[in-house]
Amino acid sequence: MRLDAESLVVRYGTREALAGVDVSVEPGRILGIIGPNGSGKSTLVRAMAGVRAPDAGVVRLDGRPLGEIGRRERYRAIALVPQETQVSFPMRVSDLVLLGRSPHTGAFGWETSHDLEVARRAMERTDVLGLGGRRLDELSGGERQRAVLARALAQEPRVLLLDEPTSFLDLRHAVLLLDLVRELATAGGLAVAVVLHDLNLAGMYCDRLALLSAGRVHTQGAPESVLRYQDLCTVYGTELYVAPNDVTGRMVVLPLSAEHRNRLTPGRGS
Ligand code: ADP
Ligand code: MG
Repeated sequence: MRLDAESLVVRYGTREALAGVDVSVEPGRILGIIGPNGSGKSTLVRAMAGVRAPDAGVVRLDGRPLGEIGRRERYRAIALVPQETQVSFPMRVSDLVLLGRSPHTGAFGWETSHDLEVARRAMERTDVLGLGGRRLDELSGGERQRAVLARALAQEPRVLLLDEPTSFLDLRHAVLLLDLVRELATAGGLAVAVVLHDLNLAGMYCDRLALLSAGRVHTQGAPESVLRYQDLCTVYGTELYVAPNDVTGRMVVLPLSAEHRNRLTPGRGS
């Protein structure tokens, strides 16, 4: 399934968090959403998931406006892994993951052996099988992030929306998670949008990038056309090093300390 956000406007009071945004996610493809703090990334994925209705514009799932689709059907199609998961009571990881099955279970909410197997497989893929009996509020941030991803996978969605899924992960778990996301897109045909802070990971894993700035899309397209020196320095408001690297051919983006900003040499990228 595809998900299209068209001319999205979202306001909090009088503050316009999104001021007319158009992005699309397609089966088998990963859209990376990047941009500085407060540029509207979380607001965008929440609106795309149907968690927050837009004040103007529309989100369409295979052409149908999200507002016309019931909750249960929406949850079967779209899974959102939010930036932060509030844990209001001490739930166990295995129970959280099973919650992901609720859009699929029958009227009485009983899980079948199939539901249990889907949940187990989701935990295996996110490397949380060993944490099944642990309480969510007693996990590290990274462990919790992987558990919440397991719940999303247990939903068996066709569209996966991830809000900074690697922010608490160490380097190994970050690439393992994004390798998994890549596989879900390429082999499983999922349509993926992922908010990433790390522009190097964004450049390496995403098919397209949308660079947000103050609630608008500053640039959008192939990673090499978005991760450009001048655009990034302007949008992030700091001097950066931007250049392709020898191993992946993708762009490397490095922030520069005051000391290094002062002795920039020519040929630092494009
Ligand atoms: P990002 O994820 O890119 O950091 P957000 O989408 O979270 O940005 O926020 C975009 C803007 O909307 C920011 O200026 C933020 O302060 C504001 N904002 C976000 N959530 C709320 C809210 N619940 N109430 C009021 N303002 C909000
Ligand atoms: Mg955010």
